[in-house]
Amino acid sequence: AIHLQKKADQFDHLVKKHPCLGGEAHSKYGRVHLPVSPACNIQCRFCKRTFNKWEKRPGVAASLLTPEKALEIVDRALELCPEITVVGIAGPGDTLATPHALEAFRQVHAKYPDLIKCLSTNGLLLAEKAEEIAQAGVKTLTVTVNAVDAEIQAQICSHIYYEGDHLTGLAAAARLIENQLAGIRKISELGVVVKINTVLIPGINDHHTGEIAKTTKEAGADMINIIPLIPQHELADKCPPDCRELNLARAAAEEYLTVFRHCKQCRADACGIPGKGIELAELLYDQPLET
Ligand code: SF4
Ligand code: SF4
Ligand code: SF4
Repeated sequence: AIHLQKKADQFDHLVKKHPCLGGEAHSKYGRVHLPVSPACNIQCRFCKRTFNKWEKRPGVAASLLTPEKALEIVDRALELCPEITVVGIAGPGDTLATPHALEAFRQVHAKYPDLIKCLSTNGLLLAEKAEEIAQAGVKTLTVTVNAVDAEIQAQICSHIYYEGDHLTGLAAAARLIENQLAGIRKISELGVVVKINTVLIPGINDHHTGEIAKTTKEAGADMINIIPLIPQHELADKCPPDCRELNLARAAAEEYLTVFRHCKQCRADACGIPGKGIELAELLYDQPLET
C-alpha cells in the first residue's frame, strides 16, 4: 500500500512534466531520445530498424551513440531546448538487450538528477533488470505489450532469444507475455510509473485492447498508449487501422486504464517538444562531436 501511495504522488507530478504522459505537457515540455541500444532480443513481425535522417517513426535513428556521447548530446539538447524535462531511451533496438541504455542513464542521472529518465522496452528482461533500472534513476517506463494471449502474440512476434535459447511460435509468445507481466509487477512495486504501448494491428489484436488494458492494469500499469501499425517487414501488406478502429480500440482500453492520445510515434533520436514541427535531432548531430 505504501508503494502505491508513493507511486500515485509521483504520477501526479510526472503527468504535469512528461510530454508522453500528460496531454497538456505534450505541447509544453520536450524530450530527448538517446539512440544507444543497438540490438533486440525479440523479432516483432512489423519491425524494421534502420538508420537514416528522414523517416519519422520508432526504430529509426541517424546513428548510434555510445553512453559517453549520449551525455554530450544531453548537454547540447538542453542548450537548444531548455523545455526538455525528459531523457528517454527507446531504441533503436531493445533497451535491455544490451547494457548501453542503463549505463547512459547512470551517467545522465549523475549529472542531471532532476531530469526525468524514461525507458522503453519490450519487457522480456524487465523483471530481472528491474532493480538496476530503478537504481539508474528511471522514473517512467514504457512496455510494449501487443497481446496478453499467446495465440495472438504469436501472430505479432515471430521469435525471441532468451537465456541462450531461440524460441518461436507459442512458446516464444507465452514466455514474452509472462516476462512482461512479471516485469510490470516488479518495476511498478519499485515505484516506477508504467505506460503500456500497444501497436494496433487490424485483424490481429484490434479486439484485444480491453483485455490488454485489464491484464496490465492488474499487474500495475498506470496508463496505455494505443498506436496505429506502421506496416513494415512481415506485416508490410497489412492495413493500418482507420480512425474509427483506433477510437474503438482506445475506448475498450479506457474501461481499465487512462488512455494517452497524443502520440506521434517519434524516432529513436527525437529531440525537442513533440509535434512542434522543429526536429532538433538534425541540429544536434550536424555539430561535430569529439571523437
Ligand atoms: Fe523492433 Fe522493438 Fe519489437 Fe525489438 S521489441 S523487434 S526493436 S519493435
Ligand atoms: Fe516518451 Fe517513450 Fe521516449 Fe519515454 S521512451 S520519452 S515515453 S517516447
Ligand atoms: Fe512519445 Fe509519442 Fe510524444 Fe513522441 S509523440 S514524445 S513517441 S508520446
